[in-house]
Amino acid sequence: PHHVVVAGAGMAGVQTALALREQGFTGAVTLIGAEPHRPYDRPPLSKAVLLGKAEDSAFDVDFEALDITLRLGVEATGLRAAAHELDTGQGPVAYDTLVVATGAGPVVLPGTEGAPDVHLLRTLDDAARLRPVLDRGHDVVVVGAGWIGAEFTTAARAAGCAVTVVEAAGRPLAGALPAEVAAPMAAWYAESGARLLTGARVARVEPGAVHLADGRTVPAGAVVVGIGARPATGWLTGSGIALGPDGSVTADAALRTSLPDVYAVGDCVSFPSARYGERLAVHHWDNALQGPRTVAADIVDGRAPAYDPVPYFWSEQFGRFVQYAGHHTGAGTLLWRGSPDDPAWTALWLREGVLAAVLAVGRPRDLTQGRKLIEAGAAVDPVTAADPSVPLKSA
Ligand code: FAD
Repeated sequence: PHHVVVAGAGMAGVQTALALREQGFTGAVTLIGAEPHRPYDRPPLSKAVLLGKAEDSAFDVDFEALDITLRLGVEATGLRAAAHELDTGQGPVAYDTLVVATGAGPVVLPGTEGAPDVHLLRTLDDAARLRPVLDRGHDVVVVGAGWIGAEFTTAARAAGCAVTVVEAAGRPLAGALPAEVAAPMAAWYAESGARLLTGARVARVEPGAVHLADGRTVPAGAVVVGIGARPATGWLTGSGIALGPDGSVTADAALRTSLPDVYAVGDCVSFPSARYGERLAVHHWDNALQGPRTVAADIVDGRAPAYDPVPYFWSEQFGRFVQYAGHHTGAGTLLWRGSPDDPAWTALWLREGVLAAVLAVGRPRDLTQGRKLIEAGAAVDPVTAADPSVPLKSA
């Protein structure tokens, strides 16, 4: 029978195996994952799991009943496409179709590799190591005011740690959001009792202290680094697979890679978006849910519709539910529904009158309605759209 091998047992890998079965694939499915743990969901790692409100976040999937072979604690180390073989730490695995779903790995702060008390937050093991750090309740320095930095800071403040956040840019989420909408978020740090140092760079980490480039020293019982993630594709070097400058596997609109019978999905891939006229790499949970359906459809009948989603993600930080849908790059007009001084507000981006993106803080209905309008390519009336008492609707 046809054998599909999935390399990487995170959200995208697990969903690929599930989607194959849902779509009637009757061949063999093998899911290979480097981590020893039962496949698990990552978003809770910086939320409930970190706070000790949940022990773990294993996916509720009966792999055996679905006839999905799990090989955990096995790392893919290379790919020989001509032979249709995946190399692993436990020997070669033959495939008819390979799906690369190895996700992303966190960027390490230079000079801190292997340093004790310097932590990353990507895996269940990372979260398990951070829980006692929170329990000790001492001074924590967070490097990076991105999504992970904000969520970790929230948990650390809830645990009673003194938190200093060191951010090189002038505001939080500088890589993700424009200044107007990210600026109000700086106040959330202060409100939680964390100290946010923007325009600040780490020069050196020593046991017990972080030294900044401007000469300041911040006490640090522990350091948590959240400065981004890169596609975990190093193992594909030498395979001949096409990779982009960001390290992503560059796939086509059906998530096929440059190698025959090899797909890529989730955080490790980039794909051409006709909707946005550019290649997208989306490091969010929803992309690891939707992409696998395209991959499975293409494996099952060879003609999946183009994968061209409206990106969506959420974050839970400082007691707020933050959601974003769309892609605001190049959108000309920014509209506010409510004021960022209010507990709940929404920002909308319009491109030539058409809704391009929505950022909702504590306004999930705006997100749901906005996302539908974006998917439909609908124009909105800027005056009514700016009135938070009126539901978002097309013009
Ligand atoms: P991953 O989840 O990274 O899974 C890849 C798997 O492949 C890993 O288990 C890895 O061990 C394994 N692997 C890597 N290399 C190899 C190899 N060579 N051989 C075998 N296996 C390998 N997104 C949101 O939208 N909202 C959120 O609130 C949110 N919170 C998050 C919180 C945290 C702490 C993190 C880390 C991420 C969060 N995300 C969130 C992002 C979301 O979790 C990711 O987009 C999603 O996990 C991507 O799934 P993936 O399967 O592509 O990659």
